[in-house]
Amino acid sequence: MSYLSKTDPEIADIIEKERLRQQNGLELIASENLVSYAVLEAMGSIMTNKYAEGYPGKRYYGGCEFYDMAENLARERLKKLFGAEHANVQPHSGTQANMAVYFAFMKLGEKILSMKLNQGGHLSHGSPVSFTGKFYQVAQYGVDPKTEMLDYGIIDEMARKEKPQIIVCGASAYPRTIDFKAFQEIADGVGAYCMADIAHIAGLCATGIHPNSVGVVNFTTTTTHKTLRGPRGGAIMCNNEYAQAIDKAVFPGMQGGPLMNTIAAKAVCFEEALKPSFKEYSKQIVKNARVLAGTLTDNGLRLVSGGTDNHLMLMDLTEQGITGLEAEVALGKAGITVNKNTIPNETKSPFVTSGLRIGTPAVTSRGMKEAEMRQIGTWITKVLKDIHNEAVIREVHTDVTMMASRFTLHPE
Ligand SMILES: *Cc1c(COP(=O)(O)O)cnc(C)c1O
Repeated sequence: MSYLSKTDPEIADIIEKERLRQQNGLELIASENLVSYAVLEAMGSIMTNKYAEGYPGKRYYGGCEFYDMAENLARERLKKLFGAEHANVQPHSGTQANMAVYFAFMKLGEKILSMKLNQGGHLSHGSPVSFTGKFYQVAQYGVDPKTEMLDYGIIDEMARKEKPQIIVCGASAYPRTIDFKAFQEIADGVGAYCMADIAHIAGLCATGIHPNSVGVVNFTTTTTHKTLRGPRGGAIMCNNEYAQAIDKAVFPGMQGGPLMNTIAAKAVCFEEALKPSFKEYSKQIVKNARVLAGTLTDNGLRLVSGGTDNHLMLMDLTEQGITGLEAEVALGKAGITVNKNTIPNETKSPFVTSGLRIGTPAVTSRGMKEAEMRQIGTWITKVLKDIHNEAVIREVHTDVTMMASRFTLHPE
């Protein structure tokens, strides 16, 4: 950062403060991860300098021969990683990837069937505060109130009644396996398209730790920065029959020039994800989540649906008589970063909530394993069961900082 600290010491100082926060704390936000130096280098490279509107071989600007090579590599690697016929790596984010699918295959005013936001869905699946809820009609399914898992029979019934144009599956706060085949069959039964948004679980799908949606549903959208451990961005995969419509919806449909430095970094991320070590990493994410979930439930804390199949868990704090907000603040003071989250049948506002979402991708990237998860579970319990005890919070904070200092911030 030698140039930055000369040109803009203010920003350099902020970045250094943030680096220390990341190094000294435990990042348990389920949607976050830590990227490699290689990904960072590609992101911070001169690949940011040029316009490349269009696609490889069909650009609106000259001088794109090397940009074409980079985007082609990114596309080919992503296709190989998921077994996809077609890939578009240009969406700036997961929300943009979803927008492209809606724009390509729905007219304004047609209907989306998707998961309720407060039961695990995402804003871009039809929330009234998102463009999706303004441009489209929305019908939403939740989880079974008893099992707190998806009930495919009920979703099928809803699909028959609501006749949606697109059925969306995939979630931001669902700790269980999603049956993509069941969703596509429900869609086929009512003449709808099926879109799987695997933003959270993409790394697990790519490595077969969670069933893959690609080749099973019509369209798969994802982010590249969650379990996939790449730069902040989005991508879309589909069969060749939908390729042209998807590509046109991304550009010129809703974006201008692609972020080519990010696309180069996506290519690096996909190459990393193709390595056997990434499969080991993905397995460890899930092992770590199981051990952490087990420690929390053994200590008397309740998890929605009783546990987890993937990288995240949702804690229900109702019995402790504390809110998600209070828990997030107390754990934050102890150096453990998590986020408050609504739980099924939530009674509080999304700014307060009765739950916490906890995920293992980032701490697993640092090389932490089962023993650390047991330790973290014990610390979380300690803080939550004595939430107003500042001495306990300080003590846990000291222990957290000591453990965090033993682990690198960058995966190999
Ligand atoms: C994170 C997430 C997204 C959106 O990602 P952004 O890059 O923040 O737009 C979309 N869908 C799901 C299910 C997500 O969890």
